[in-house]
Amino acid sequence: MNNLSLYGWNNNLFQLKQTSQYKNLFHGRVAAVNRTNYEVIAENNRLLCELSGNVLYGSPSFELPCTGDWVIFQPFNDNKGIIVDILPRKHTLYRRKTGTLSDRQAIASYVDKACIVQSLDANFNVRRLERFIVQVVEENIQPILILTKSDLEFNRHQIDESLKHISRQMPIFFISILSPETIFPVRESIKQGETIVFVGSSGVGKSSLINALCERTVFLTSEISKSSGKGRHTSTRREMVLMDSGILIDTPGVREFGLAADNTETLAEIFDVSDLAKYCHFHNCSHVNEPGCKVIEAVNSGLLEREVYSSYLKLQKESLYFSISEHEKRKRDKSFAKISEEAKRIKKK
Ligand code: GDP
Repeated sequence: MNNLSLYGWNNNLFQLKQTSQYKNLFHGRVAAVNRTNYEVIAENNRLLCELSGNVLYGSPSFELPCTGDWVIFQPFNDNKGIIVDILPRKHTLYRRKTGTLSDRQAIASYVDKACIVQSLDANFNVRRLERFIVQVVEENIQPILILTKSDLEFNRHQIDESLKHISRQMPIFFISILSPETIFPVRESIKQGETIVFVGSSGVGKSSLINALCERTVFLTSEISKSSGKGRHTSTRREMVLMDSGILIDTPGVREFGLAADNTETLAEIFDVSDLAKYCHFHNCSHVNEPGCKVIEAVNSGLLEREVYSSYLKLQKESLYFSISEHEKRKRDKSFAKISEEAKRIKKK
């Protein structure tokens, strides 16, 4: 018997379920997404579920269940079921699908906090970090920065300097798997019932950290897998595990994180340029080359670092590009739907 409230089930979700035509069936949370099925944690068991035809063919791929989604299913024989509905998503972490301009890919949903994990060696990269933060904040998810391998040599001053424009946005933890006292504050920051997703490149120590937080081996780390001869653990799927307070979702190591965000205001706030932008001559200033632009003035006077400004412009461009492409795509999908409806109508005549 699973206590679903430990997995985040609450009265709000119960109310949402009442709006579904399948409200009298069972519900559960997607714990892992496999190639052809979904692992769902329900009150009585853990099931392997497939999708009903309506769900599979009635939704674009980014709306198909992802880890963390709450779903309604019809059970059939031993621990198997068919997902017939998905409760409306909240706080979903998306990214742009690799190789596309405007296709979203859902990584995890019903997420309260996102731990962005980088290691304090060559992996540390502020530009990549900014990208993650923009996407996370876009969905009202609280970002947390975890810098791992603090037992290795690194230049603390340099790291602090490079983070100063974003350090107001989130708590930052320097941790080492070799010093349990550095993990303790991370555990303390996770409140009862919260869902935390971990994102970062492979090899930065996400599995080691999740194991430490859960105080048991839930994921193999590369060291363990090497010694057991089973090869390196690289998470290739998103998987949800329970720690004593929160619910943790590991994600496959993602190096590239294409923005699937179209809110340039979020971007301005994260980069700390929104206060400057208020005083620009033009209220819709893009801060690229307009006269009277306070952001450009801040760059010229050294108040705003040039690298930070370039990164801001780059992400702004990417975000606008995503939003235009997505808008075009929606328009195309709408006309296609209209044409199909018309074709069906003519066929019926
Ligand atoms: P993941 O791919 O992000 O899940 O990374 P792993 O947890 O598998 O760790 C990758 C490698 O980094 C392993 O060899 C770990 O032992 C090592 N590692 C993880 N955390 C630390 C740390 O805090 N300090 C050091 N020195 N190595 C670590």
